Amino acid sequence: MEDEARPIVSLDLARLDRVLEIDEASRIARVQAGVFGPALEAQLGARGWTLGHFPDSFSHSTLGGWIATRSSGMQSDKYGDVADLTRGLRAVTPGGILAIRPVPSTSTGPSVREMMLGSEGRLGVITEATVHVHRRPEQRLILGYLLPTWAVSLEVMRAIAASEATPSVTRVSDAPETAFSFATRKTPTPVDRLKSRALQALLRRRGIDPAQIVPGLHRLRGHPAARRRPAAPGRGDRQAARRARHRPQPRRALRPEEVRHALHRDFLLDRGALADVAETSAPWSALPALYDGAMSATRDAFAGLGVHGYVMCHLSHSYHAGACLYFTFAFRAAGVRDELAAYRTVKSAVQQSFLDAGATLSHHHAVGTEHAPGSSRTSRRRAWRWSGRSWRASIPART
Ligand SMILES: Cc1cc2nc3c(=O)[nH]c(=O)nc-3n(C[C@H](O)[C@H](O)[C@H](O)COP(=O)(O)OP(=O)(O)OC[C@H]3O[C@@H](n4cnc5c(N)ncnc54)[C@H](O)[C@@H]3O)c2cc1C
Repeated sequence: MEDEARPIVSLDLARLDRVLEIDEASRIARVQAGVFGPALEAQLGARGWTLGHFPDSFSHSTLGGWIATRSSGMQSDKYGDVADLTRGLRAVTPGGILAIRPVPSTSTGPSVREMMLGSEGRLGVITEATVHVHRRPEQRLILGYLLPTWAVSLEVMRAIAASEATPSVTRVSDAPETAFSFATRKTPTPVDRLKSRALQALLRRRGIDPAQIVPGLHRLRGHPAARRRPAAPGRGDRQAARRARHRPQPRRALRPEEVRHALHRDFLLDRGALADVAETSAPWSALPALYDGAMSATRDAFAGLGVHGYVMCHLSHSYHAGACLYFTFAFRAAGVRDELAAYRTVKSAVQQSFLDAGATLSHHHAVGTEHAPGSSRTSRRRAWRWSGRSWRASIPART
């Protein structure tokens, strides 16, 4: 913040860390906003409940931060993102305390709740929120599929979203990310290597190129009677289902504590590689072109800088109308004079490709100072000024 002339106030909300009450009949809980993910889940879990919100940054981020950045968790396909989960909130604004009632739904004008979601601290400090909670599931089941190409996998994900299955996670990695996962597998044993070679040979015999395959993942959580399972990828879309090779496998579930890959960036930085992620969302029909555009923009940026780089992608969240594509890139900055400028070149190339494809600048990493220039291109400044005035006029009675 060397170039910041304005005064900076830093607030520590860490002591606002308690679940205040659970209204079991309404399945909502009133929670203080400074609570970190693990402490929140421990308090809810002790009474058999879960919020169901597990961003990769779960252990290092707070309920107030999730609301202020419109966060999405790994299981948002089932539970909804934080905007869906947050019913009411309390915030300290420059004009007084704002209390938004935790009603299930309302028709009284523009939503002040929506204005606070994603406000990134600019409208006030969120001190408390009333959020949906869910009974902890009795069973978890992971189903894995191998799909022949990225194009087929997008069709399969779309068909699952259109089906009546309710997985908590639906995720598919492209071929470069699949190769990366295999290459960075923890200490494979000789038996693991043999199994991997045998699987690749089997795939080739069936006419599938292992360099093209993409693994799909569906995690089902819930009570045995209520759980619906996608009988095959692409149910409801016969064409996709026919082309998909699938092999359901019950497996142990991931736990939030196992989400360690969020720390990979620091590991790579320590070794001279610049890495970051960029995530976006677009309608199903726009995803193939969005993917192609982002991959070539990133590779062109690497070529322009004369660096060796890697880019990979997964589809992380599915919706009625579309999905989130999550790109990860890294490059060796050897020989680059200005590393930060090189990083910005690659990052803005990816983000420009999102804007060119009509997609959003960020699906869940919010705006922040880095995305700010791009965000003014997605929504016109004059519209923002107008909505700011409307927001002030629509603020309900303060308590
Ligand atoms: C490695 C990594 C992985 C990530 N993975 C995900 C992911 O899977 N999903 C996802 O959604 N995001 C992810 N993020 C982004 C980030 O962690 C989330 O957006 C998170 O919601 C931020 O919460 P925080 O408590 O850390 O807030 P901070 O980073 O401390 O603050 C973020 C912004 O919110 C404001 N803010 C924070 N608390 C409050 C409050 N109580 N009232 C008002 N304003 C407030 C701050 O002023 C700031 O502008 C990731 C980030 C990293 C570094």
